Amino acid sequence: MAVISAVDAVKTYESGSKTVRALAGVDIAVDPGEFVAIVGPSGSGKSTLLNLLGLLDEPTAGRVVVDGSPASELSTRERTDLRRRTVGFVFQSFFLVPTLTARENVAVPGLVRGDRADLLDRTADLLDRVGLGDRGDHYPNELSGGQKQRVAIARSLVNDPEIVLADEPTGNLDHDTGAQVLDVFDDVAADGVPILAVTHDEQVTEYADRTVRLVDGRIESP
Ligand code: ADP
Repeated sequence: MAVISAVDAVKTYESGSKTVRALAGVDIAVDPGEFVAIVGPSGSGKSTLLNLLGLLDEPTAGRVVVDGSPASELSTRERTDLRRRTVGFVFQSFFLVPTLTARENVAVPGLVRGDRADLLDRTADLLDRVGLGDRGDHYPNELSGGQKQRVAIARSLVNDPEIVLADEPTGNLDHDTGAQVLDVFDDVAADGVPILAVTHDEQVTEYADRTVRLVDGRIESP
């Protein structure tokens, strides 16, 4: 069963007197273990699709199903809970808290969730997994861009999500550092947690299992 899917998803925005159709009927399903790249020109609807699949926004028409739950049938509260339980996020500019160590940054979503019993162990395991077992006490300004993004990936995994959504994850990284981050994504996907990354970066598509191209709010046929 797909971890996350959109069925004929449409999203329109009212902007003054004009209606902008950001998504014009998109079908996509991501299965466990897949690393999927979403590419397309600026304005083609990539961020809009990521926001729908990440339960940050709702489609104007069509359906989004996350972990078996049709998002439209949930209250706002239920949708937020579902998002916290099932979706990890990774962003282009990392969004680490500068006054917290790497270890503390990874732990933050676990604190919000309130299930703290094994949080320290889990945080240490995740830092090991992204190759930063010896950097837990470092602050973000003591880490390279690639290390920061690997901390962010560890953080995205702390609540055992069903999927990780990434917005331009290599956008602030050079080629070699980007490769290290993409290796981590490959490992995470191989361990069963699928990755869906929106990107302009050709390098991401080289690591992804498949690439979906959006043009004018539609998926271009292969
Ligand atoms: P991409 O991520 O591929 O650059 P977006 O999903 O950001 O594309 O945008 C798709 C289209 O929807 C664009 O035409 C954009 O201007 C429009 N759009 C996105 N968000 C809004 C918004 N909040 N209000 C009005 N128009 C929007």
